[in-house]
Amino acid sequence: MNNLGAERISPLDVALEQLRITAERIDLEPGVYELLKHPKRSLIVSIPIKLDNGEVGVFMGCRVQHNDARGPFKGGIRYHPDVTLDEVTALAMWMTWKCAVADIPYGGAKGGVCCNPKEMSKEELERLTRRYVNALLDIIGPFRDVPAPDVYTDAQVMAWIMDTYSQFKGYSVPECVTGKPIILGGSEGRTDATSRGVVICVREATKRLGMKMKGSTVTVQGFGNVGWNAAKIAYDLGCKIIAVSDSSGGICCKKGVNPYKVYEHKKKSGSVIDYKGCGSITNEELLELKCDILIPAALENQITKANAANIKAKIVAEGANGPTTPEADRILCEKRVFLIPDILANAGGVTVSYLEWVQNLVREHWSLGEVNRKLEYKMLKAFNNVYEIVEKEKLDMRTVALMLGIGRVGEAIRTLGIWP
Ligand code: NAD
Repeated sequence: MNNLGAERISPLDVALEQLRITAERIDLEPGVYELLKHPKRSLIVSIPIKLDNGEVGVFMGCRVQHNDARGPFKGGIRYHPDVTLDEVTALAMWMTWKCAVADIPYGGAKGGVCCNPKEMSKEELERLTRRYVNALLDIIGPFRDVPAPDVYTDAQVMAWIMDTYSQFKGYSVPECVTGKPIILGGSEGRTDATSRGVVICVREATKRLGMKMKGSTVTVQGFGNVGWNAAKIAYDLGCKIIAVSDSSGGICCKKGVNPYKVYEHKKKSGSVIDYKGCGSITNEELLELKCDILIPAALENQITKANAANIKAKIVAEGANGPTTPEADRILCEKRVFLIPDILANAGGVTVSYLEWVQNLVREHWSLGEVNRKLEYKMLKAFNNVYEIVEKEKLDMRTVALMLGIGRVGEAIRTLGIWP
């Protein structure tokens, strides 16, 4: 059984520090600040399943529902050996701010299970998912809390969630989860929506900085759903992808690589490493490479006070949640790096999740063009909302995004009132 309290740099400390600084800056009432420091509900569950070898494996999972003042809880589910309750709580809090910044009518939640999906069979993952959903049945649902994919979960896992939830209800409830396969009511464009949103933000940033997408050099840490699709979309817009990495290590090529071919290589070999014609680099080295645009798209706490001074990118677009610590933020600000924070940069995922939910509720299926148009509109609006204040108040993008997100949630709580 894994330990949900495992020790490491706590993303929750980062999230709480961001909340503290922002609450002070926007003069949030002490009561509302106190309320937002804690999730509304955290459920820890133990998940016993039959393993393929006949033994019983017991995994720890949780679902943290941070705040639902603006709408039903919404957030992904992570399967990873390092999942902790602290990490999931931080991710839930960031979801609350993200939905507010993107102006999506949802609150914030997150789920996680301590497991190593790379060492589990598809059948074991199915049993794990179904038993986890069973344990969460009382607190999730289309108007309560709507899960979605995150690290090491995908459309297939979402299909099992939909089926398990529907079996218990006795009828099909596609709107209980997003990021589903299209055949089950998934939305066109959901798979690369997070990355499309990241690249829309990058494109807007290059315009503001007098740079051009065409020919800009890009490095991507993490070549999973977010990283690979961001590399692909940036490449299609003329960017030069000079380095990518995954959990096994990274590759680097000054001339640039074709991400489609790297993806094929990863599909065959399991990793980006050893891709022909490229040098190998570590994940740490990738972050410090000279480039125009750096996209961290793996895990938290990658850019810290230890390496922030060595970051050479002009733009950092946070595809991942929480890749930068507050101390690193200060250093990047001093270096005048244009950082597009997670709660803005990767909001495209929850935006299209919302569009999927709406399509399910009204029993419609929109075209890719329609979904992408709506995504572009929402991302552009969010980016401009933040950037206008950045310009006016001479602040950085993260500070303003947090002010906007936390400010909107605070206003919702104030308007609802504290009952009784
Ligand atoms: P994924 O499981 O598809 O991919 C994760 C990638 O990160 C893999 O390539 C993996 O090899 C790599 N990785 C894992 N550990 C690493 C390490 N220590 N160093 C370098 N690379 C490592 O997950 P994803 O959905 O692409 O999520 C990536 C990040 O984006 C996470 O922070 C997630 O919370 C965030 N995010 C995802 C979505 C979404 O829609 N999937 C939306 C918003 C934010």
